[in-house]
Amino acid sequence: MTVWNLGSINIDHVYALPRLPQAGETLAARGLTQGLGGKGANMSAALARAGADVRHVGAVGADGLWARDRLAAFGVDVAEVAVLDAPTGHAIIFVDDAAENLIVIHGGANRALPWAKVEGALARARPGDRFLTQNETAWTQEAARAARERGLSVAYAAAPFEAAAVRAMLPFADLLILNAVEADQLRAATGRGPGALGVADVVVTLGAEGCLWIGADGERRLPAPRVQAVDTTGAGDAFTGFLLGGLDRGLPMGDALSLALRAAALQVTRPGAADATPSLAEAEAFDA
Ligand code: ADP
Repeated sequence: MTVWNLGSINIDHVYALPRLPQAGETLAARGLTQGLGGKGANMSAALARAGADVRHVGAVGADGLWARDRLAAFGVDVAEVAVLDAPTGHAIIFVDDAAENLIVIHGGANRALPWAKVEGALARARPGDRFLTQNETAWTQEAARAARERGLSVAYAAAPFEAAAVRAMLPFADLLILNAVEADQLRAATGRGPGALGVADVVVTLGAEGCLWIGADGERRLPAPRVQAVDTTGAGDAFTGFLLGGLDRGLPMGDALSLALRAAALQVTRPGAADATPSLAEAEAFDA
């Protein structure tokens, strides 16, 4: 089947600085690297690496055609990525010599995506397909509702965490994926733990500790393979991509989680986000 991912496409501008700037200060960067980023794009790339037929629903500006093409190079279908008269979503990332960072995000085209584009994409989805979204684009809630109405199974990664947005999505989610910090934030916002949200399957990722799955049969803790982590950027996105990719191939949840844990463990042993995501063959063969 197909996984429809309504998600952000960002350009990450990473400036290397001797130290983070103070208010009012001008600092010369030592270097600049630019790459494809955004949770949505990272998840689509991971889905493609996991072997899924993934259609990305989103938007870039004219300055981001290369970012769309990068996504396509991963094997993601980008026919539903609109080109808008708006700047491509981006992150300005300062990294100092101590690896401390400071990040500013601008939603740009991700937030300017017209509803008609989302509706048009979903009209091409078939019952039994999967729908995935996060919190970095416009229309997440409306799209999840429409996807459900079309008979798609809805997966939702509750990041970046925004209490009101996450609460509003709960009635439309069949699968909720969140990290431990987000689970605590959601508990603080709703007074309810992950098992009491009315969502059929909830997965809480626990970093090096693996994950917790709360489903119809209760709670199950799955450990992560032990690895030497060098860069945890995009670990959650790789986990989500491989989890959905596995489910889409018909794996039972326990096996799809095991695949996601192996893929995310490999991901953290390599620097980078989407570029560090392993292939399905690597994840399947990985036995830490
Ligand atoms: P996020 O990246 O969203 O903050 P986590 O830190 O929980 O979320 O990481 C997501 C997943 O990545 C974890 O459930 C785990 O599978 C994997 N992971 C993260 N850090 C490690 C690590 N040090 N060793 C092995 N796996 C890891």
